[in-house]
Amino acid sequence: MTTPTPQGPVPNSAALGLDLGGRTALVTGAASGIGRACALRLAAAGAKVRAVDRDADGLDGLADHARGLDLSGTVEPHVLDLTDLDAAEQAAAGTDVLVNNAGIQLVRPIEEFPPEVFSTVLKVMLEAPFRLVRGALPHMYGQGWGRIVNVSSVHGLRASAFKSAYVAAKHGLEGFSKVAALEGARHGVTSNCVNPGYVRTPLVERQIADQAAAHGIPAERVVTEIMLGDSALKRLIEPEEVAEAVAYLCTPQASFVTGVSLPMDGGWTAH
Ligand code: NAD
Repeated sequence: MTTPTPQGPVPNSAALGLDLGGRTALVTGAASGIGRACALRLAAAGAKVRAVDRDADGLDGLADHARGLDLSGTVEPHVLDLTDLDAAEQAAAGTDVLVNNAGIQLVRPIEEFPPEVFSTVLKVMLEAPFRLVRGALPHMYGQGWGRIVNVSSVHGLRASAFKSAYVAAKHGLEGFSKVAALEGARHGVTSNCVNPGYVRTPLVERQIADQAAAHGIPAERVVTEIMLGDSALKRLIEPEEVAEAVAYLCTPQASFVTGVSLPMDGGWTAH
């Protein structure tokens, strides 16, 4: 008997019945990977999506793609480097849905980790989300409705060697998300994290060589031994699967779901 091939996602973007018509959503890191999938998913639900990224070409490509899909919402590029924290806070004013997604990675042992990169990782992945939430809350509180979704990681819940800045930033984001949930509750604002394992995106492709060097193994063994080593499901997740979880957290059915972290890690944290 042969072993069945593990099944990937079955695309079914209408399944949640999410209607964001008339809503504005801001997605950071929207030019690539998970952010791009989130921007398209929320636009498919009818939202006017403010797509934020430092990658202008990537955003243009996304906007072109969105136009070709005939979505009920729109995708509007907003070029911004999130290390400009004041600009980040301003960009979030007036949004109903905020998806904090932009992220960067560097794989190095602590003693070789450049301090300036550590600071930048914390700035983009923890300080910028704080400033974006700070910018978004007055409008959300004013209307008594808002959705904050923080794209954390299995590394918000578990550590891995050689990812000091990333793990520190994601653990910080987890705490911040819970505080936003407690403060936002009486204003109709929920705040949650989604926690994927390894997702098939450029961020993962770019770290294969560094992982191989840090662990002293050939690049072709990195996915199976390092990335999927702790995952019961032996495949990468697709960005669209993460976007669907983000969309769920914006549905009316999820209005009582706040302050949680949703692992999408193939069983990694079941250990
Ligand atoms: P990606 O590299 O494909 O996309 C990240 C985007 O963020 C890029 O478009 C990049 O230009 C943008 N960005 C980075 N720094 C920025 C800055 N200073 N200002 C504005 N934009 C900036 O990465 P991805 O895999 O889609 O990751 C998205 C998020 O998901 C990250 O927070 C990451 O930590 C998280 N995540 C990824 C994985 C994974 O395996 N890929 C797993 C768990 C969590």
